[in-house]
Amino acid sequence: MDSFAEFDQATIAAIATPPGAGGIGIIRISGQRALAVLSRLFAPARGEVSHFRSHQLRYGWIVDPASRRPVDEVMVVYMAAPATYTREDVVEIHGHGGYVVLREILGLILAGEGVRAAEPGEFTKRAYLNGRIDLTRAEAVLDLLNAGSREGLNLAVSQLQGGLQQRLEPVRQALLDVLAVVEVAIDFPDEGAEIIDGAELSRRLEDQVRAPLRELLDRAGQGRIYREGASVVILGRPNVGKSSLLNTLLQDERAIVTAVPGTTRDTIEEGLNIHGMPLRIIDTAGIRETTEEVEGIGIERSRRRVADADLVLLLVEAGVEPAAEDLALYDSVRDKKVLVVVNKLDLLAPPAAGQALAAWQRQFPDRDLVGVSAHSGAGLEKLEELIFRLISGGKPRDPGYACVPNARHEAALVRALPAVEQLQAGLVADLAPELLAVELQSCLGCLGEIIGETSSEDLLDTIFSRFCIGK
Ligand code: GDP
Repeated sequence: MDSFAEFDQATIAAIATPPGAGGIGIIRISGQRALAVLSRLFAPARGEVSHFRSHQLRYGWIVDPASRRPVDEVMVVYMAAPATYTREDVVEIHGHGGYVVLREILGLILAGEGVRAAEPGEFTKRAYLNGRIDLTRAEAVLDLLNAGSREGLNLAVSQLQGGLQQRLEPVRQALLDVLAVVEVAIDFPDEGAEIIDGAELSRRLEDQVRAPLRELLDRAGQGRIYREGASVVILGRPNVGKSSLLNTLLQDERAIVTAVPGTTRDTIEEGLNIHGMPLRIIDTAGIRETTEEVEGIGIERSRRRVADADLVLLLVEAGVEPAAEDLALYDSVRDKKVLVVVNKLDLLAPPAAGQALAAWQRQFPDRDLVGVSAHSGAGLEKLEELIFRLISGGKPRDPGYACVPNARHEAALVRALPAVEQLQAGLVADLAPELLAVELQSCLGCLGEIIGETSSEDLLDTIFSRFCIGK
């Protein structure tokens, strides 16, 4: 982090509450001049303006220093560094929530010396640059703001509490311990061979480094699902009941249900929660050759959706022989997770329904299969159960495992694992200690990237620009 030690030290200010009228609106100021800025504008109802006590609210007015005109009735709080969000002096002004009045107060603040408007995420960025939080926690703040489900929120909170960093710390420590041994061997070249017990160190790396990293990586997919929602695509030839099934799942009438093939011209996407897992269910226009242009666009979009899907529901019709089109559709998704859904069971009497299911199962022997009726709702519970099981891999999220890596962490973990494996191979093959040290540094580098020990200005910009102003 040394390269960022001299970041811009200006005092920054922004409206921290969202635009629009609210019960209260908050302006946040951070930096060395925060208290001076406040003192210039604040007229307390009681006591001297200079009598601020850290972390205590005071009541009074914001007054335009030039005209002495009162602008808003406020509560203000001064929080002395370092026990603050940014680890700098922080001031918050809680005014009436109107946007015009907040803009006016902000204008008075920014007219002061050495203060400028904060950029998106800059308060959180300072918390990171000043060492209060690591990068995973800064990202957790963003996840928390954007959480779309209770589970997603729980994940963000655990990460904000440092869950991921705490998991990585012992891994890093284990690598540092091995590095210490290797460095001794470098310093005493004659005894190098006796100092390094390659097989034993490699075993230690297996337990203390590779296994925990592997587990983190396994959780990454789950984390993405809880954060962003898994995508489930409904695929099937025209008229098998895709729109009807989507509607029944949603108990909603958004998809237009018709008996004419090919009328669902575009993909329709809806959000749904199954056992606390957020899903995006997508009804495709059907992947078929067509000459009609509008449908062609829909089909191209469908193909992309299928490629990205976490699960494909292949919808077929009970009591109908498998058509070439069903098999072609199946072929196009062979390498994905597929659940075969046999629809329109209500059209068949129970024994025939059983035979129809068995016939479709023979067609797709390696796949999970469920019979439903989009019309009556029969089989829906089992369908939801299977969707959940197939996406989560049978494991409900373990609340005790309080951290789940995001895509950025995942990318670093994907790089770290082969680096660890190469290091292990090097240890077993009695590689020169100098080379082992290089391998070790590369593993440590990948972990450092995750917690933000080593990170480029570009990466920080990418992360923090996703925040809103005032956060
Ligand atoms: P899509 O082209 O695959 O989206 O199919 P639709 O949802 O538009 O349905 C095609 C036709 O099948 C419509 O007439 C629906 O009413 C009918 N249908 C859909 N699901 C069922 C079902 O479970 N049972 C029965 N009997 N008819 C269904």
